This record gives sequence, structure tokens and C-alpha cells, in this order.
Amino acid sequence: MMFDLTGKTALVTGAGGGIGGAVARVLHRQGAAVVLVDMKAEGIEALKAELKTRAYSLVCNVTDAAAVEALPKQAEEMAGSSVDILINNAGITRDNLLMRMKDEEWDLVLAVNLTAGFKLARAHLRGMLKKRWGRIVSISSVVGATGNPGQCNYSATKAGITAMSKSLGQEVASRGITVNCVAPGFVKTPMTDVLSDEVKKALLSRIPLGRLSTPDDIANAVLFLSSEEAGYITGQTIHVNGGMAMIS
Ligand code: NAD
Repeated sequence: MMFDLTGKTALVTGAGGGIGGAVARVLHRQGAAVVLVDMKAEGIEALKAELKTRAYSLVCNVTDAAAVEALPKQAEEMAGSSVDILINNAGITRDNLLMRMKDEEWDLVLAVNLTAGFKLARAHLRGMLKKRWGRIVSISSVVGATGNPGQCNYSATKAGITAMSKSLGQEVASRGITVNCVAPGFVKTPMTDVLSDEVKKALLSRIPLGRLSTPDDIANAVLFLSSEEAGYITGQTIHVNGGMAMIS
């Protein structure tokens, strides 16, 4: 089987959400044990019950430094093996025009989308270095490359995680660890379902492939970057946006 993850342990943050849930399901289907992390228990408990085997849940707010520091040991105890694949997926928006943006809106988005990614990577690298194998995949966004009015905070974090991945990728490449990003465009979620037909039409006119992305479209790119087969790829971003922005 291609992209076989049997024997690997994957930790997915924000696994109670749309994209994180899809990523966890796909990695699990390929044989990985999955550690589902989210600040809210409901979604990850339901997903754990759905997956039945090789699935573990940990309620953790990724902005809590002590809780993040404790994650690798907790995950290893649950799954029986340290984390091989870290998926930095938890992310939030607090949109506002910059002139009106409150310090708290800036600070919280940076803490969740960027600083937590740094702390999670630092905490889990120890185990990966020992195994001389690891995968770190972060979910960025098309707006990290293009910008978007109302999202100065959010787009800065997504560009930031991309640059961090390039630097870290160079630091750990010799140890068999790759660090990459997947950048979604518009993903079909309950949030986009409620848009008016007019807004949807305008949105779709900008997407050459003529539809929004499903969470699985994103998860499939994450699976590839998490696999043995992607071992020669590091510091890169796969843009999964239906051609909305063609970035080289
Ligand atoms: P979502 O809101 O469905 O899921 C996010 C999950 O993260 C939620 O379950 C939430 O509880 C969790 N979370 C938030 N803050 C947390 C914290 N401090 N600690 C732990 N967990 C926390 O969102 P989604 O659409 O699945 O987004 C996932 C990722 O994809 C995010 O990084 C987002 O920026 C990115 N993304 C989404 C889209 C889109 O169109 N939905 C587009 C581009 C990028």
C-alpha cells in the first residue's frame, strides 16, 4: 500500500474541527495511531468513538505552554510510542480591519496559529530526533501568500508558520525529519454553507476548478507529506486551493 503509516503515531491539534477531523481520519485509515488534541472535548471524544481502535484524545489548549510541554509524554503513554507525525492544525480567526484591530485580537491569533506551532514542534522534536525520523505538517492558508483585507493578524501567522517551516526544515533535515505546510483556499464548512448564492457565485468565479475544497482534499495533501514517500520534500508548501492562486 502506498502512504502506509502502520506503526506510526500521529498527533493532530484542532482534531475536533472540520479539517483536523478529516486529517485524523485519513492518517488513521492509513494505519497510524492518532492522538486527537483539542481545547474542546466534545468533537475529539466523538471522533475517538468513531475510530474505535488506535485513537486517543487529549483535551489541551495549545496556548497553555505547560500543557503543550506535557503533551509528548502523555501521547507516548497513551499510544505506546512517541509522536512521529505532528500536525499543527488548530487555528482561529479574529478578523478586523487593522485600524480597528484590538491588541487582544492580534495577540490571540498569534498565540494559537504561530506560537503554539513553535512550542508543539519544539516539544515533539526530541522524540523524532531519537528515532531519526519525523514529519511536521502545519496547516497554513492561501492568504499567508496573497494577504486578505481584514486578516492582517491571521495572514501574518500563516506566512509566519511557512517561514518557520523553512528554517526548521533546514535545522533537522539531516536527522530524517521533514517540515512542510499545506495551504488551503476556501474549504466547505458549516461557515461557508450559509453564504448567499450571490456570494457563493462570486467566490466560485475565482476558483478555476469550480468548487470549494472538501476537508478531505486538504487531508490527502497532509497524508502525502506525512508519508515515507514524501521523504525528499522539506520546507515546502502544497497549495490546495482549486487553482484560485497559482503560487510557485
Ligand atoms: P475549525 O474551527 O473547524 O477547527 C479548529 C479546531 O481547533 C476547533 O476544534 C477548535 O476547538 C480548535 N482550537 C482552536 N483554538 C484552540 C486552542 N487554543 N487549543 C486547542 N484547540 C484549539 O476550523 P478548520 O476550518 O478545520 O481549520 C483548521 C485549520 O485550517 C486552521 O489552522 C485554519 O486556519 C486553517 N484553514 C482553514 C480554512 C477554511 O476555509 N476552513 C482555510 C484555510 C486555512
